[in-house]
Amino acid sequence: MPKVVSRSAVSSSTDAQPTASSAAALRVYYCICGEFILVIDKSIASLPRRRTDGAIIVRAQDSDAGKARVFKLNAVAGDPVLLERPGGHERQYRFNCPRCTLPIGYQSTPPPAKSGPYMYIFAGALSQVQGEVPPDAFDGENGETIVELT
Ligand SMILES: [Zn+2]
Repeated sequence: MPKVVSRSAVSSSTDAQPTASSAAALRVYYCICGEFILVIDKSIASLPRRRTDGAIIVRAQDSDAGKARVFKLNAVAGDPVLLERPGGHERQYRFNCPRCTLPIGYQSTPPPAKSGPYMYIFAGALSQVQGEVPPDAFDGENGETIVELT
């Protein structure tokens, strides 16, 4: 009976550099309650921010302007809220922490996540270290009027 040699064993080469696996480059973020919230392919600290509220902009869909980030959001969809902005109103579909229900971020389109071109993450909502409050947790409390939609 011939000996069976596994293909994977044969194809391994000694001089091949270990390829930077995508998993190694992923960043993991936690809610301040310690719940795992977000895994993403780039540090959110390096992503652009909205001028209006300082929220971190995560591109959720490919477009002419760029490719979508690879990310997964572990959050539950909350009630939409209507914000007063200079020059009009803005509707936000919120996503909340599944454990402590703290708002994590929002998008401009109804759930599920990534149904719109961008996902916005609240500045200071997430920490890279489990159980640690991020240094900017209290930034951005600029007295916005929030109208809860019924
Ligand atoms: Zn939480």
